[in-house]
Amino acid sequence: MSLIPVEDALARLLAGVAPTPAEDLPLGEAAGRVLAADIAAARTQPPFPASAMDGYAVRAADVAVGTPLRVIGESRAGRRFEGNLGPHQTVRIYTGAPVPPGADAILIQEDADPSGDGGIVPRDTVSPGQFVRPAGLDFAEGEVLLRAGRRLDPRAVALCAAMSRAGVPVRRRPRVAILSTGDELVPPDAEPGPDQIVSSNNFGLAALVREAGGEALDLGIAADDLDAIGHAAGLAVDADILVVTGGASVGDHDLVQPALVARGMTLDFWKIAMRPGKPLMVGSLAGMRVLGLPGNPVSTMVCAEIFLRPLLKAMLGQPPQAPAEAAILGATMKANDRRQDYVRARLEPSGGRLVAVPFPRQDSSMLATLAAADALIVRPPFAPAAAAGDAVAILRLDR
Ligand code: AMP
Ligand code: MG
Repeated sequence: MSLIPVEDALARLLAGVAPTPAEDLPLGEAAGRVLAADIAAARTQPPFPASAMDGYAVRAADVAVGTPLRVIGESRAGRRFEGNLGPHQTVRIYTGAPVPPGADAILIQEDADPSGDGGIVPRDTVSPGQFVRPAGLDFAEGEVLLRAGRRLDPRAVALCAAMSRAGVPVRRRPRVAILSTGDELVPPDAEPGPDQIVSSNNFGLAALVREAGGEALDLGIAADDLDAIGHAAGLAVDADILVVTGGASVGDHDLVQPALVARGMTLDFWKIAMRPGKPLMVGSLAGMRVLGLPGNPVSTMVCAEIFLRPLLKAMLGQPPQAPAEAAILGATMKANDRRQDYVRARLEPSGGRLVAVPFPRQDSSMLATLAAADALIVRPPFAPAAAAGDAVAILRLDR
């Protein structure tokens, strides 16, 4: 049986995936969304030379210790001093206020004593430009400061506001319908029967989808029955992606593929050279990309990291893959077989290096170790046995 290498499977999954359409949102509603276009500043910031301190606007060349300066007015944030600064004059100034023409520096108030006749006497000299924010220090009108694909995190939102971008073009959230299959599954708030277990996959997947910037539609749990699976899949209206978990192997009760084919799915490929996750399936149905993931909870979540997250990123116009990082192995590992292995590991900083310590048990039903893991060690097909101290590639889970 031939297995498709992970990289090939990912390339085939992403081939021809177009970003979702752009929509314009008021900035106040755009947090967490992904920019659909580069964003340029609509104005210059600061728009005028501004004081960075409370003190006195001065001509640096005039300032000598003990030589009085005449105070001719005041400039505060929101109300500038209308006039020019002449020789041996100064203007009382506050943080954020426009620096009057003629002035080129700020004498901080701690360095000024009253002269007795309403003026001041400097206690220190200043250099030209000191505590003055030149116009455009932060950015200039027309400057592109945020690129398409940038997620609008709080810092980016603040910058958009400062740039006078009160509305921003963002990608429509990719819509992902999620269906769990299995006679044994009950929701987390139900009491499982004697042979039943709690379904975790739909919850983990929905959380991943939302974290990645998508919209999750939980279709619930379908029994291991062709009609039940087909009917539930039919509820995925308007979705961009349909993810079905469980029923993905070739057992008598693994009905996802035939159920979806019966509904018109074109099977693209399945069976990937990876662990966990060999029976992963990719197809398309009614305009949706279909991902069939193996039911074991760790397989589901790892496959979602490796395939679903990049697919969502591609739909959001982002680089699909986070690059692997280098780490040092913290334990021995056996030689690998033909499947690329994703091994749950803790990360421990040690002497400036990152040490990846694999969990001793890697059964793909063990969600607790997945939740405790910081990263997945990526072991390529046929990787030779490795010793503690060897270099390994890791994918962080806490991006
Ligand atoms: P399957 O892919 O249907 O053969 O399922 C493989 C294993 O994963 C079985 O032990 C299932 O009980 C378990 N499993 C399947 N779906 C889920 C789910 N939604 N949540 C938790 N475990 C599941
Ligand atoms: Mg099953």
